[in-house]
Amino acid sequence: MQQANQACRDITNEQSFEAAINIFADVPCAVCKRSLYPQQRSNLRANMYSILLPEELVALGTITTCSRCSNNIRKRKIPTTAYWNKMMPAEVPPELVNLTSVEERFLSRIVPFLKIVKLNNRFSQNWCKGQVILFAKDVVEIAEQLPLTPNQAGLVLVVESLENLSCSKEFVVDMQRLNRALTWLISNNHLYSDVQVHFETTLNIPHIL
Ligand SMILES: [Zn+2]
Repeated sequence: MQQANQACRDITNEQSFEAAINIFADVPCAVCKRSLYPQQRSNLRANMYSILLPEELVALGTITTCSRCSNNIRKRKIPTTAYWNKMMPAEVPPELVNLTSVEERFLSRIVPFLKIVKLNNRFSQNWCKGQVILFAKDVVEIAEQLPLTPNQAGLVLVVESLENLSCSKEFVVDMQRLNRALTWLISNNHLYSDVQVHFETTLNIPHIL
């Protein structure tokens, strides 16, 4: 009898485990587009807030939102993350998405300064604190000619060398990828419209691999 109970409990646990792992955040909030788990969803009668909401949402009658958007709208406030505020970052174009961090620095027109704290836990995560300040590079002399040289990009490569081992980490810069990214930036980003492509200086650096 005890064994039968145990077997029954195992099946129930297995079924509840399967049920638990098959719950997904697969319904987006109609206002901020964040994906929501079932317990995060709340229903809102959009036609009661026709002054706040865009026509396409009002026409739906009842909409599914997250609790934050729902609370804001019930208080007659437009949520800051509402999609019609156009605050959503666009997708990174394929020309830029695969750049390494060294390649990004070569194409950068600004230098960001921020405080990074190394958290003392077993995952050794990094944490940003405070404001990020962006300094423009020397516009007259440097930034109108990209890509930058390692000195201009402010790159300091720290390489560990061990007595008995002659291996060190290499930083790869793909010139074709750099060229594609720079061409895309010049034609699509107005902040790069005055940039002149100047690959000669970067190609002549012997210690860039
Ligand atoms: Zn929302």
